[in-house]
Amino acid sequence: MSNLDTSPDVTLCHTEADDHAVTEVFEPRAVPLGGLRAVRVDRVMPQRGLPTVGAWCFLDSFGPHDTAMRVLPHPHTGLQTVTWPLAGEIRHRDSLGSDVLVRPGQLNLMTAGRGVAHSELSEPAGPLHGLQLWVALPAERADMAPEFEQHVSLPVFTAPGATGTVLLGTLGDTTSPATTHTPLVGADLTVTGSATLPLRPDHEHAVLVVSGTPTVAGVSLARNQLLYLGTGRTELRLSSTEAVRVLLLGGEPFPDELVMWWNFVGRSHDEIAAARADWEAGSARFGTVAGHNGDRIPAPDLPGIRLTPRRKTRESPFQTQ
Ligand code: MN
Repeated sequence: MSNLDTSPDVTLCHTEADDHAVTEVFEPRAVPLGGLRAVRVDRVMPQRGLPTVGAWCFLDSFGPHDTAMRVLPHPHTGLQTVTWPLAGEIRHRDSLGSDVLVRPGQLNLMTAGRGVAHSELSEPAGPLHGLQLWVALPAERADMAPEFEQHVSLPVFTAPGATGTVLLGTLGDTTSPATTHTPLVGADLTVTGSATLPLRPDHEHAVLVVSGTPTVAGVSLARNQLLYLGTGRTELRLSSTEAVRVLLLGGEPFPDELVMWWNFVGRSHDEIAAARADWEAGSARFGTVAGHNGDRIPAPDLPGIRLTPRRKTRESPFQTQ
């Protein structure tokens, strides 16, 4: 999926590691997708004051709705895209020659590295519901050659009261086979009653509510709210009177300041501007996505300011538990 926001914010991904457990609730922001009438997504990350959780730097929750998703070829750099359908099927084509359907329970993972292009179309038009995430690549991998992988069978994590899929990284003793470049976790979990999840205290974590109204670390949450949990936890307690579904995200606090603009993750204005210029010029850097007769999403104009990394501070102090 593309960031189709027609006037994307300049977002600095910077995380100053908190050395303690906290709880802070973040609300999603409704973003209309340009060119796709009646389709909107709930943008959960990045948030003002919360640009990253580990290397996770972008999270859209889309649907459920009955509108076809038609995202024409567009570029990415410096990140991995993680496509996780919850209902419906998405056809992915990219400039590496991939052409696959991804279904609920299956993971599409595209590593952009120095540059790749892809398209994503729901097929057939019907109920569509899913999550799209980006993982920032560390500096030493940001220029790597692009890769694509699909995982149709992922490991199942179980604990008393909880079961689910580990998409990326490791939860407890369960590790996904998907390729990662920094220590992290992403897991889609169903909790019935109450459950306790094992966490790494040196990682920061957050929980997105996919469905239901769970209580997580003592905080009552609703759908599409994100609870940031900080670092320093060895376990996380979740409970609900009904079965609930949550996405657990976590990872080693990301050390770099990043500039995110449109579909690019970089470390300087010049890097982002060069990527934009290369896409607009039809550079071989991004290749060609077959099957679209040259149709593609043009890059928006750069803002009239130099994209300068700057630190974001949180608007309110965390509540220490
Ligand atoms: Mn995309």
